[in-house]
Amino acid sequence: MSVAQKLQSLKDSLKTSDRMPVVFLGHGSPMNALEETPYSRSWAALGRALPRPQAILVVSAHWMTRGTTLVDVSKLPKTIHDFYGFPEPLYRMQYAAPGAPEIADEVIALLQSHHAEGDDTWGLDHGAWSVLTWLYPEADVPVFQLSIDMSKDLDWHLEIGRTLAALRHRGVLILGSGNVVHNLRTMRMGGRPLDWATEFDALFADRLAARDMGALADRKGLGSLLTMAHPSIDHYLPALTIAGAADEKDDLVFMNDSIDLGSVSMRSYVFHG
Ligand code: ZN
Repeated sequence: MSVAQKLQSLKDSLKTSDRMPVVFLGHGSPMNALEETPYSRSWAALGRALPRPQAILVVSAHWMTRGTTLVDVSKLPKTIHDFYGFPEPLYRMQYAAPGAPEIADEVIALLQSHHAEGDDTWGLDHGAWSVLTWLYPEADVPVFQLSIDMSKDLDWHLEIGRTLAALRHRGVLILGSGNVVHNLRTMRMGGRPLDWATEFDALFADRLAARDMGALADRKGLGSLLTMAHPSIDHYLPALTIAGAADEKDDLVFMNDSIDLGSVSMRSYVFHG
């Protein structure tokens, strides 16, 4: 099935559900924010297929904290240009969606056991706005971010997702933004997919489709493939949180299952039902 066909059948099935889907998007290069690419086009199409959320909670790979999980409670999150050496127009991009401080306060209460705290100094990093600018170009849906606690191991991030799943009944779209494979050291412009990148990506997809979420958080089981795919774990953690927010009632749709730049998986997925 083409992406368009997948999204049409997704759109048809979403009409019958009363809870929001959960979405993970591989964001890849910041240039996808600026340029029409197969990825940015698919994000625009997904935005048209999804039911309109009350608010969007973004778990981005680029907001890293240690020992705490921060929740953005600002009324107007600022656009952060957290990248270097890109063309000037990318630094002019703004995503001026309002925040959702009341829902953010609820998230802090929900994640009390995970040491969640409010924060009004962050805003929206490019992991969030590079995809949101295509998903909801009008910037008229309130949006707020949740940080990833880099001091915690993989199962912690699955558990955060399980806890956040309660928000799906409240019209909140939980959106993870990272990459299933993300090794910048081996990345090459126009590079062919590296074998281990393809292998990890396929293993991830297989376990996700089997709803074997525990395997995705099993460092021993994933072994050296995990450290090749993620020399730093930040881009993997949002993928786990979104997996954790899904359950056996959900159907799974994959999008953009390709490896970009040799070692950046753009694999994205939607759980709905
Ligand atoms: Zn990134």
